[in-house]
Amino acid sequence: MILLGDGEVSIPAFIDAYQAVRHADRATQLRHLAQVPGLYVPSLYAVTYDDPDGPIAAISPIDADIPAIVTKQTHRGNTLLASSVVTERAAWPDIFMVEVVRSCPEMCRFCLASYLTLPFRVADLEGSLLPAIDRGLETTRRLGLLGASITQHPEFETILDYIGQAKFDDVRLSIASVRTNTVTRKLADVLSRRDTRSITIAVESGSDRLRQIINKKLDTDEIAQAAIEAKAGGLKALKLYGMVGIPGEEEEDVTATIAMMKRLKK
Ligand code: SF4
Repeated sequence: MILLGDGEVSIPAFIDAYQAVRHADRATQLRHLAQVPGLYVPSLYAVTYDDPDGPIAAISPIDADIPAIVTKQTHRGNTLLASSVVTERAAWPDIFMVEVVRSCPEMCRFCLASYLTLPFRVADLEGSLLPAIDRGLETTRRLGLLGASITQHPEFETILDYIGQAKFDDVRLSIASVRTNTVTRKLADVLSRRDTRSITIAVESGSDRLRQIINKKLDTDEIAQAAIEAKAGGLKALKLYGMVGIPGEEEEDVTATIAMMKRLKK
């Protein structure tokens, strides 16, 4: 079974439903759980195709008492998540993570991190994010800021000022990749003072034409400017995320990516 959407909404309902049938046989459990909003049980749906190698014609419940449509569950609040367990045995050891934003308003055409998790939501600073940071840093000195595009939090400057305080001088800060045209000197400065040596930007391609195709609203000069800001703020390395093989790509688009990387290195 698959829970669709935000766990804040679907997990409590799932646990309640599961407790009611935990000692039942598997078929009874699955049929009962399929009634939970947002809970999709693939074995209770039949998939038919237009022809054997053609597109899907329909996905239909196998019985009338199984919901015909499974609706993604959406958390509408502005309290987002923070780690509840911090351990050296985690994939990212000893790091306390706070979610800064969920989804992303940019809608780059290929981006599941944006489309699958819409709408764009931002953490409330006073009521949720900053107290969570304080709580987490009582346990560990490693902090991770999570989100598809954290620098697009409308109060991101305030978050940087908060983490930049002297009382957090021994904290090591990690962030996910950021939108290229939001790399500022201040961001680079706070990261380098918080024991981070590099920043990752998702440029996708060095070709302006190709970035337009995928709705990546970014020009090559902005990429160069991000590199300049990162260096001026004290960072030692810049990592680029990109793609080749995008539909519509031509040889000259790949060449443009190589030219862009040479320009950045210079
Ligand atoms: S800016 Fe990044 S996170 Fe946002 S839609 Fe584009 S690729 Fe996705």
